[in-house]
Amino acid sequence: MPGPGRYSPDATEGVTRVEDLPKAKIARQSRNYKRRRCPKCGRSAYRLRTVVRRLHDLGDLVSGRPREIHVCYSQHHCLGCGAYFNADMEDLALPKSHYTHRVVHTAVRLVVEDGLPYRSASWHQWRDHRVFVPFATIQNWVEAGGGKRRPATSPVSI
Ligand SMILES: [Zn+2]
Repeated sequence: MPGPGRYSPDATEGVTRVEDLPKAKIARQSRNYKRRRCPKCGRSAYRLRTVVRRLHDLGDLVSGRPREIHVCYSQHHCLGCGAYFNADMEDLALPKSHYTHRVVHTAVRLVVEDGLPYRSASWHQWRDHRVFVPFATIQNWVEAGGGKRRPATSPVSI
C-alpha cells in the first residue's frame, strides 16, 4: 500500500493548452467611493468613473484553481488642484502590479530564503499556489527588494 510520501505528479503537468488549465475563481472586492480626499491638496474629490482591476492572487489549494481578485475602484478628479487619482488599494497590491502582495512575498521568499533559481520559483508558484508568474517577473521583484542573499539560517540554533 502506498504511504503518505507517495509521489503523484501535478495534475497540470504536460498540459500545453491554456484552455485546459483550471479556470480561476473570481473574488470581487470594492474600493468604490463617491468622494475621496485628494492626496495633493486635501480637498474632497468626486468620483469620475469606476474601473475594474484584475489581480492574480494565491490560488485555492483545495480546488487546485487559480484565484483572481477583481477590484472595482473609483477614479477621482480634484476640482481644487486638478489632480486625478485612484481610490487607495495599496493594502492589496503595488500600483500597476498584476499580482497581490501575497504572491510577491511568497515568490521572493522562495528565492531569498530557500535559494531556488528563478525558473524553479516560477514553477513552484504554479504547482503549489496556482499562480503563474514569469520567472523574469520574479527576478525583477527580488532585485527590486535588494537581491539574492544567502539562505537565512534557522532561527532555532542548538
Ligand atoms: Zn487636489
